[in-house]
Amino acid sequence: MHFNSIAYAKEQDKQDTLASYRNQFLFPTDADGNKLIYFCGNSLGLQPKTVSTYLQEELDAWATYGVEGHTKGKHPWMPYHEFLTEQMAAVVGAKPLEVVIMNTLTTNLHLMMVSFYRPTSKRYKILIESDAFPSDKYAVESQLKFHGYNPEESLILWKPRPGENLCRMEDLEQILEEEGHSIALILIGSPNYYTGQSFPLKKIAALGHHYGCKVGFDLAHGAGNIQPNLHDSEADFAVWCTYKYLNSGPGSLGGCFVHEKHATDTALKKFSGWWGHNKKTRFQMRDDFEMLPGAEGWQLSNPPILSMAAVRASLDIFHEVGMDALRAKSIKLTGYLEQLIKAIDNEKITIITPENPEERGCQLSIQVKNANRKLHDQLTEAGVISDWREPDVIRIAPTPLYNSFEDACLFCEKLKKIVDEK
Ligand SMILES: *Cc1c(COP(=O)(O)O)cnc(C)c1O
Repeated sequence: MHFNSIAYAKEQDKQDTLASYRNQFLFPTDADGNKLIYFCGNSLGLQPKTVSTYLQEELDAWATYGVEGHTKGKHPWMPYHEFLTEQMAAVVGAKPLEVVIMNTLTTNLHLMMVSFYRPTSKRYKILIESDAFPSDKYAVESQLKFHGYNPEESLILWKPRPGENLCRMEDLEQILEEEGHSIALILIGSPNYYTGQSFPLKKIAALGHHYGCKVGFDLAHGAGNIQPNLHDSEADFAVWCTYKYLNSGPGSLGGCFVHEKHATDTALKKFSGWWGHNKKTRFQMRDDFEMLPGAEGWQLSNPPILSMAAVRASLDIFHEVGMDALRAKSIKLTGYLEQLIKAIDNEKITIITPENPEERGCQLSIQVKNANRKLHDQLTEAGVISDWREPDVIRIAPTPLYNSFEDACLFCEKLKKIVDEK
């Protein structure tokens, strides 16, 4: 059986112990009701079938108890976020004290920068990877300006070398050797949303701390995809969203990590709200703010329970599967897809994502010669949901929870047909 036959792919699915999870998700379909090949979990994860039940539970609690739902029902709303903490912490390799689900990603990034970007006349620069997600770049630029610095001079980019697509660690080391003393904050997105390159978080945090910088990570493309081992990484903070690999619905809540070493540091500046205040006295409406220890202390508002219900539904699945099993399948599935794409052997397409599984998650980024967007549109017509990112990349993310080896094989049949035709 040749590896690029459907029979081979089906055999791999048979041996896959996580294969049945595919049936727990709702797939978009074509006009005839056939499931599309959904490779866009890096943008919006599919809906777990259980979400509607979890949501309905909270709608019922609201109908039954009104305001008393805050303290009554199966999952009272007052401590609702706490029902998510342990499972979320396990997914990102953190202690429960270090993790909270709140707000949305870019909001959390700003809140973290309020605390961890504290520029002085000598140390005020921010370093990011050059192809950072636009929202991250806008956020750090606006923070620089807010503090009176010019991004042109004070935003440092860690760039791939000319003619290359990926960032090299030795170049980061070089930048820090030259400018580390003036850098206040290092913020790296991992894996990078464009190339799919994932970075050695612990190494970067150690390097940054060696030069006295604070170090934070944006794990929008990491949470639920790779195991970032956040506690062990020693990063000062991290942020992520839950609507990509964590399948919690469009615009759903963000996650936030603050390392234990900052858990009770009351000298740390922060923007505060009543949900970050001591739970025991929160409703006594006292004047003086008494910060909760750990990441919870950064909470502002009472959270949107309906969105949180979807996060809870999704995290229950992650808890059942476990990141180790998920990652093991992911490495196999992405490796298989890579092998298939390489076998197409057409000079119009190149994979720019690192080959080493340690340096990537599930996503593969395919660079298309002459920035031909038409290829992406033809894939869409053929029943593949992938995405096109300017200037010249198609991103495909076979997510291990609901994509199959058969998906990978069918995708490559279609891709081959399209590129060979032109
Ligand atoms: C998806 C993504 C975002 C989106 O931010 P929101 O505040 O959730 O809209 C930001 N940064 C990165 C790296 C992302 O991948």
